Amino acid sequence: MVRRTKIVATIGPASSSPEAIGQLLDKGVNVFRLNFSHGTADEHRQRAETIRQVSQQKKIYAAILGDLQGPKIRIADLHCDELPLEDGADITLTTDDTSQKSDQCVIVGYKPLPQCVSANDTLLLDDGLIQLTVISVDGNDVHCQVKVGGILKSRKGLNRLGGGLSAPAITEKDLKDIELASELHMDYLAVSFPSCADDLIPVKDKLHELGADIRIIAKVERAEAVGDDDTLKELIKAADGVMVARGDLGVEIGDAQLIGIQKKIIRQARRCNKPVITATQMMESMINNPVPTRAEVFDVANAVLDGTDAVMLSAETATGKYPTKVVAAMASTCLGAEQHPDIRRSSHRLNRNIEHIEEIIALSAIYAANHLSNVTASICLTESGNTALLMSRLSSGLPIYGISRNLEACRRMALYRGVVPIYYDVTQHDDIYQCALTVVAETGALQKGDRVTLTKGDMMGSLGMTNTLKVLTYNG
Ligand code: PGA
Ligand code: MN
Repeated sequence: MVRRTKIVATIGPASSSPEAIGQLLDKGVNVFRLNFSHGTADEHRQRAETIRQVSQQKKIYAAILGDLQGPKIRIADLHCDELPLEDGADITLTTDDTSQKSDQCVIVGYKPLPQCVSANDTLLLDDGLIQLTVISVDGNDVHCQVKVGGILKSRKGLNRLGGGLSAPAITEKDLKDIELASELHMDYLAVSFPSCADDLIPVKDKLHELGADIRIIAKVERAEAVGDDDTLKELIKAADGVMVARGDLGVEIGDAQLIGIQKKIIRQARRCNKPVITATQMMESMINNPVPTRAEVFDVANAVLDGTDAVMLSAETATGKYPTKVVAAMASTCLGAEQHPDIRRSSHRLNRNIEHIEEIIALSAIYAANHLSNVTASICLTESGNTALLMSRLSSGLPIYGISRNLEACRRMALYRGVVPIYYDVTQHDDIYQCALTVVAETGALQKGDRVTLTKGDMMGSLGMTNTLKVLTYNG
């Protein structure tokens, strides 16, 4: 059975060798994430090359997603390795970097901090593990009391509950990393901490300047980005895809709010015809354990039921003890969730007017596949992969085979829910229909007598020209 939900795995020290990457591909990874917050340019270069080589050997079309560090706000280096913070203790965060560091004084490089906070605010350190309450602000100093203590280490992240700490959208390091992403022909680039659509502009400009065809994923991880529905919608529309970046977003808005917001982001992304990734702490316990907890299994399953295109692994595969086991656990969880009848049919958009021919053909192909008897798959002959994306916005229990003669399109399609990319040039054959059926049948997907729906453009080879839907029967 074809798994519809895609798996994004972050590559790190635990998973960079050709053997490890090969095993991850075998277990079902569709997209490899290279995180620019860690590792050197040479490490990323080496990893990207290995991914391309091993994927090619295995004839699997996996995408590479570069993830920009962005303007994450962090504390500076501490005066010691570990600073235990007791509940109720006093601690000062100061932006004056000439201050004497101590157990009671921590330096923060983010200069606007004193202007952005006021008494009674909650500040969160290390992804919310440590919580502080602001007592008073005095010049460069923010005096706090520890509400929930823990062990603080150097360079941990700092967030404010409710948002409001915003640095410029893109850093010098990000610009350098965009150049590297372009050099390495990455397929997707994740932009960290945008608060609105305009924050994507500098990234787009840079990609344009470099002439790079890399699709942008907006990470939704700031309270401001989900502050109102229009801001979120505009951000999604301005990007090529989105990530529900639950690590930072959960810290800023609180986990209780995140439950509904995850559903909202996924629904909105699908409505805007964009792919969506659900990320962070999906199978966190598997960093150290060979099996997930049932709660984690249900969290992954819930994202599948919400309609996410992909679920993502971070430290689980980058530095964890069981990179291949966690991918296998995620894959079987997704397959299990996908059996739920609610997500095998769709009445989505039936009451809407559709402007574009390509989109109505794509939707019609999936309606036909869902409702006509004996249909086992949809096939989409596509140049850019866009028709496959449009098809995959509708729920279905049946796979979509996206056949393209364009390698970049195949890699992009690796992210789309329910889409199996096939790299093949059907235009080289007289009978393209028979050829398409044969190519899909070779994957083991078709039995004699099976029906498929197939879409194509009359002018094969032109972008956005899909205008034909056929129902074909596979006769061997
Ligand atoms: P990060 O982004 O892992 O780069 O922080 C994802 C998240 O915040 O969830
Ligand atoms: Mn983040």
